Order: sequence, then C-alpha cells, then structure tokens
Amino acid sequence: MPENDAIILIIDDDESIRDSCRQVLKNSGYEIHTAEDGEKGLHLTKELNPDLILLDLKMPGMSGNEVLKRLKEYDPKVIIIIITGYATVESAVDSMKQGVYEYLPKPFTPKELRKIVQHGLFRRKCLLESERLRREKEKMRKNFISLVTHELRSPLSAVQQNLMTITSGIMGEVPDNVMKTLSRLSGRIKILINLINDWLDLSRIESGEMEIEREQLNLKDIVKDIVNLFLPSAEKQNITMQLNAPEENYTVLGNAQTLEMLFSNLIQNAIKYNRKGGSVTISLEQEDNYTKAEVKDTGIGISKEKLPLIFEQFYRIKDKKLIEGSGLGLSIVRKIVELHEGAVDVSSKVDGGTKFTVKLPYGHNNTVKQRPNHGSVKSFMKK
Ligand code: ADP
Repeated sequence: MPENDAIILIIDDDESIRDSCRQVLKNSGYEIHTAEDGEKGLHLTKELNPDLILLDLKMPGMSGNEVLKRLKEYDPKVIIIIITGYATVESAVDSMKQGVYEYLPKPFTPKELRKIVQHGLFRRKCLLESERLRREKEKMRKNFISLVTHELRSPLSAVQQNLMTITSGIMGEVPDNVMKTLSRLSGRIKILINLINDWLDLSRIESGEMEIEREQLNLKDIVKDIVNLFLPSAEKQNITMQLNAPEENYTVLGNAQTLEMLFSNLIQNAIKYNRKGGSVTISLEQEDNYTKAEVKDTGIGISKEKLPLIFEQFYRIKDKKLIEGSGLGLSIVRKIVELHEGAVDVSSKVDGGTKFTVKLPYGHNNTVKQRPNHGSVKSFMKK
C-alpha cells in the first residue's frame, strides 16, 4: 500500500470535525470518506476496506465501543485512531485494549492530526507487509512439503517396494553377492524414508497443520499400545520392557495421535540406545495437576556437555556403533510437549542409562475418552 494511496474513513457525528479532518488530510493525497454514525461507518468499512479510521467514541446510536469491536472483527489490521472530546484515562486504556492504535483528544492541531495519521499508516504498511511475508512463507513451506512428499518420498518408496520384490526371489533367484548389495541399498533407502517422515511430522506439527485437538484421555492406554508395539524389537535385543502404572486411569488433556508419536520416539530411543540384555521401564504417576511419565533405560547414556543439545533438530551424537536415526525424534517430542503445555526433562549418565520425564496437564473434565483397541499406532513403527 503506497502511503499516499491510503483510504481513510472519518466516523464522527460532528460535521465540523469531519470537514476539518478532511481538509487537513486531503492535501496529502489520501482518499477520504466520512460517516456521521457508527452504522454508516461500518457499512463504508465493508465497502471500502479503509487502511485507517478516525473514530469518535461518543456518538448517538450504536455505542462507540460496539463500533470499535465490529470494525476490528471485520479487519483486525485496520488502524483505528480514537478522536473524542471526552478523553479520560480509563476510556483511553479501554480502547487501547481493544486494539486501538492511538488516542487523539479534541481539540487537536492539523499538525498533530497529520503526524498521527502518518505514523498510523506506516504501522498499517508494516502489518500488511508482515502478513504478506507470512503467507509467502506458508506457501513456500507447503510447496516444499509437497515436493518432499511427491518428488522424494514417493519414488523412494517405489524403489524400496521393487527392491523388496527382487530380494523376495519372486522374480528369480538372486545371487548371494547381489542380494548383499540390494539389502544394503534397501537399508539406506529405509533410513532416508524415515528421515523424510520425521521431517514431515515435525514440519506439520510446527505449522499447526497436524490436527491437535485435545480431549481427556487415559495416557495408560496410549503408552500400553506403544509398549506392545515395540516389544518384539526389544525382545530381539534381549531388552526387557516394563510398564509401571498401577492405577486404572492416568488422565491427560491430550491429543492421541501426537502423544503416540511422542512415546513412540522416547521408547524407540530407549531401546535403540540400550545395550543387549538391558531394560526399559516406563512409569506413570498422577500428580496434582498433571500426569507424569518416565521412560528410563539402562543404555549408553549421554554426556553432560551433549545433554542440552539433544532436543535440537538434526542433532545426533556420533557413536562408534553407528545407530540409525534422523536426529529429529526428540525435536518432535519437545514440540508435542509444548503443544500440550507440558514439560520434558532428561537426566543421564554415560554408561549409566537415561531417563526422560514428561509432564502433561490433565485439564478439568472428568470424562475420559475410551480408546479403540490398537488404533493408528502402527503408523509410527518406522525405524
Ligand atoms: P535420533 O535418535 O534419530 O538420532 P533423536 O532426536 O531422537 O534422534 O535423539 C537425538 C540424539 O540424542 C540421538 O542421536 C542420541 O545420540 C541421543 N539420545 C536420544 N535418546 C537417547 C537415549 N535414550 N539414550 C542415549 N542417547 C539418546
């Protein structure tokens, strides 16, 4: 919006004020419109989309505050400057709270009016520009997600599928040396697909695209499902898993899909970074205002210096054992905890195991939604 092309609407029942404001402002090249009451002002606002409105709060008919509220509802970014002869501190504070840009008590000089309008229009320009950039960024993000999904993940999944068909022997016997190479290839592709999936999850959570409607849930149901899901992979490595949750209900105000993701990441890590014959213990506890969940392992642990970094995106601790991962799991955990207005903490000792503690508020509604048996949990089994 070039500032001089700005549309200004003056809503005041006093004709002399309307005229004098018009006189003062018209030389600056603005398009000026006037209305003598709130009703007409609202009507003109919808018709003209003004950038700035000079509004008298004391007019006959609809109350000034009502007009103000409706103007802001229609365009939250419109700049409103209140002009009134009945200036009190309270009314000024009140209107500021309703998103008014400035307050101009009558009588005011032409210079004061011009200055306040100029500043207001500059503010409007900044607001519109930041909105444009936000939209642009959102568009780029969506394009990028679609590029990653369609141009990267889909073809990779197709290659993976073909490799599986070949290695299954359906298409004919595969010599041992070729089979080895194909298996290696398939492993690399799996890592890439996991990385893409993690990145897409994180990006969807961050943008608010992933639905995170919260309801009263029993956290025990969710954790139990995830434990059962990872039991086979723990058993493969001789790792025992135990869930300590003696109560029937552990209520949280949460979103099942993202909580599954959260515990899936923590439990997966507790197995991945454990040692053969180790154990993973998950404990639930209901505190005064929140439910506490602990995921404790007997694994390799994390050094004090690296501990503050593990929640950073793509951060991975380099290890001789070359454990696979995207470095995004804990960023996803942190993001989900934030969305639930909870907290996550970690304590660890090199070679002495790691404990993640998650606290999730449980809201006030006492009805706990029953969870269908083993819902969508399988989608998180990716590594
Ligand atoms: P990923 O596991 O995919 O590398 P994460 O974001 O889940 O990524 O974890 C970041 C890093 O934190 C891991 O690379 C690992 O070094 C460390 N880490 C996470 N959980 C544990 C754990 N339970 N025990 C030891 N190290 C862990």
